Amino acid sequence: MIIFKKAADLRHYLDEEKKSKRSVGFAPTMGALHRGHISLLEASKKDNDITISSIFINPAQFNDPTDFEKYPVTIEKDIYLLEKAGCDILFLPLVAEIYPDGFNNHKQYDLGKLETLLEGKFRPGHFQGVCMVVERLLNIVCPGKLYLGQKDYQQCMVINRLIQLMDIEKDTTLVVCPTLREPDGLAMSSRNMRLNEEERKRAVAIYNVLTSIKNYLQPSSLITIKDKAVEKLVAKGFRVDYVEIADAITLEPVTEWDGRQKLVALVAAFNNEVRLIDNMLIN
Ligand code: AMP
Repeated sequence: MIIFKKAADLRHYLDEEKKSKRSVGFAPTMGALHRGHISLLEASKKDNDITISSIFINPAQFNDPTDFEKYPVTIEKDIYLLEKAGCDILFLPLVAEIYPDGFNNHKQYDLGKLETLLEGKFRPGHFQGVCMVVERLLNIVCPGKLYLGQKDYQQCMVINRLIQLMDIEKDTTLVVCPTLREPDGLAMSSRNMRLNEEERKRAVAIYNVLTSIKNYLQPSSLITIKDKAVEKLVAKGFRVDYVEIADAITLEPVTEWDGRQKLVALVAAFNNEVRLIDNMLIN
């Protein structure tokens, strides 16, 4: 695996490779890698000649400074895991490399309702920060395919929108990979490393709530089902940002279900200090 720290060096290398028409798959990450991340690389390796990953903890997307400070860093293990997975290139930039002019006075991306719904509402500015870093990374890597995890459902929708805004739909296809879970169902996440033993045991309640929403779904009002889910999480000791059942395409909340509309259930809740998110396509 070749590690590049400078965008210009990586770009130069890829320009040479692309002369021989080699296809490029890209899976950006913030490090603290787990099997969920590795599954994105595996998907890319199947489809592309060159697989690139990046590790960059993007300060612009953290609306909570404590979350940023406490974000796990396991760079040596990450490099080992990437090597083992057969990743060809790792882009490992410093903040100044990504944001030479800082990241405060940036342009605004028109994300429509995605900006005010769910994660958009509870993490103001978060998706603007995500778009900043992903636009920069896409401009450097220019991948034919971009691999993201369904774990961050709304983020996938935001990046889909970004690809339209950048007018690169013809060049870059978004591939959404399934959420990898622990044996008890907890969605793998870098933030799980921050959970103590008791919190880790409790964390599975989020998966259980999503599963019971899926099992009890009926064509009728969804209000009770959502309220019950919130109650269950609160009873377990979570501070709930939201439990939502939404249209899987638009992410608009659905309160009355006609039995046909495709739905996704989404949860964001604090397990003490650690905010966890998960989602499930439920029909
Ligand atoms: P992160 O490092 O958390 O920014 O995640 C980098 C990429 O890995 C994003 O596209 C995530 O959606 C994806 N990802 C995170 N957790 C999982 C998981 N459990 N299964 C599959 N993909 C994941």
